[in-house]
Amino acid sequence: MFDTYKKLNILAVGAHGDDIELACGGTLARATRSGHNVKMVLVTGKESNDHNELPIRTVDESQQEVAKASAILGVTQLSILGFEDMHVPYSIDLIGKLDDIICEFKPDIIFTHFVFDTHQDHIRTAHSTISAARRQNTILLYEPINPSGQGYVAFRPQVYVDISQTIDQKVESLKAHHSQYLKYTDKWVDAVTARAKFRGFEMGVNYAECFEVVRMEIKL
Ligand SMILES: [Zn+2]
Repeated sequence: MFDTYKKLNILAVGAHGDDIELACGGTLARATRSGHNVKMVLVTGKESNDHNELPIRTVDESQQEVAKASAILGVTQLSILGFEDMHVPYSIDLIGKLDDIICEFKPDIIFTHFVFDTHQDHIRTAHSTISAARRQNTILLYEPINPSGQGYVAFRPQVYVDISQTIDQKVESLKAHHSQYLKYTDKWVDAVTARAKFRGFEMGVNYAECFEVVRMEIKL
């Protein structure tokens, strides 16, 4: 997918720090290795609390973690929009900000959450991205997985990316989210790695990530 002569602009939009790394970190690392321009957009990025309103990470911790994780993937362009955790809106405010980023960055490929996720922030991020990307030709939704997301409609893997060469970067980027790693332990990393192995087996390689298509242009 990324072994082309043209340098691609690739945009990944996620609600929370770690969402993008969990879902398409291996793909983004492969893209940066191939010399493509990758930009990550974190819709929240303030302090984060759990469902019991107990603090998970401060704003400084959150931004340090995401900066470290994106650097591990080779991503140098990072936008933190700073919407309130758990209260991401589906509104002109967020859509407008994403619209501005899309107009400036001109992405060839956009990745975002699965629209049938169960987390309200993930759903609204996905819908906002799709609305803002109405004039873009290639939009792919990444696979939901706990604790990053869980779908109530079956995910249909339609596009696969071989991440065998970048699975280690993906794992390291997850561990850079120290607050999440402390909370979920190695079981978290093991589950994500096992899924990548399963998806890799489906396409005949060691590790893979897969995506659902909203819209896709084939460039010949
Ligand atoms: Zn999330």
